Formats: sequence, structure tokens, C-alpha cells
Amino acid sequence: MGKRHPNYRHVKVHRNYTVEEAANLFGIHKNTVREWLKSGLPVLDDKRPRLILGQELAAFLQARRIKNKQTCQPGQMYCVRYRAPKMAAGGMADYLPHTEKLGMLKAICPDCLSMMNRRVSVAKLEQVRGELVITFPQGLDQVSNRLQPTVNSDLEREMNS
Ligand SMILES: [Zn+2]
Repeated sequence: MGKRHPNYRHVKVHRNYTVEEAANLFGIHKNTVREWLKSGLPVLDDKRPRLILGQELAAFLQARRIKNKQTCQPGQMYCVRYRAPKMAAGGMADYLPHTEKLGMLKAICPDCLSMMNRRVSVAKLEQVRGELVITFPQGLDQVSNRLQPTVNSDLEREMNS
């Protein structure tokens, strides 16, 4: 776990790190640190070895951590208590429509059993659901039908043209 989310608190902000030192600090591969450099972690100057300012490293990891935390993968929802995306308990969620096109997915957090909500549009539902089994309120069968590409609409189009 620690390897996937290097703790920025381990960084000493007043010292500089080579790529190797930064890798050793977190027990990760040097290539991972090189990836960080590619994705925007600044170096001190263009001299070799490249030096990373501790302060920059800490700030970079902190920002990255927040970004990672807020990004829910398909099938995941954001737990407010853990401040992290979680898989829905039992792989199940309820869809509650707000409008015809927008609604809310509701599921239980497997770790703290609190309710997790994820705003979603019907158009994105398929993308967001992952492996989730979604329950729709009665009378909303048309939404769940829309999730499967219908052969009917193609047929109708052909018949009408
Ligand atoms: Zn939770």
C-alpha cells in the first residue's frame, strides 16, 4: 500500500534528492521517480545528477494524492468518511433519478457502512458502473433498457428510411 501512495510526510523539505535517493526514501523503483519527473515534478536545474527539491517533491506527492483520491474508477464511489473511492458493498447500487438525464447512484461503503453517493448522467452510467449491479426504481425501466444497445432503434431507423 505504502508503495502505491508514497507518503509525502517522509520528505525532508529542506534537502535535495537525487532520483535514486527519492526512490530509496519510499522504497520504490527509480523509474517511478522518473515518471514523476515526466509528469511535472520539477528539478532544481539541468545539471547531473538531477536534483529534486524536497519541498517540490512533497508538494507534488501531496497534490497527486488528492487527485488520486478524488478519482473514482468504474464501480467505485466516494466515501466521505474515508475521503477515498471505495467499491460498493456487495457490488450493488441504486439509481435515483433527479431529472430524465441526471441522477444519483447510491451504495453502501463496505468499510464504514455509510451511504456513498455519485452524481451521474444516464449517458455516463454505463461507463461509471463497472461491475456494479444497479437497481432502478420502478417505472424507470426505460433507463435500464437504454443501457443496452438496442437493436430495435436500428431496425426502426431502417424501416423508416
Ligand atoms: Zn466508508
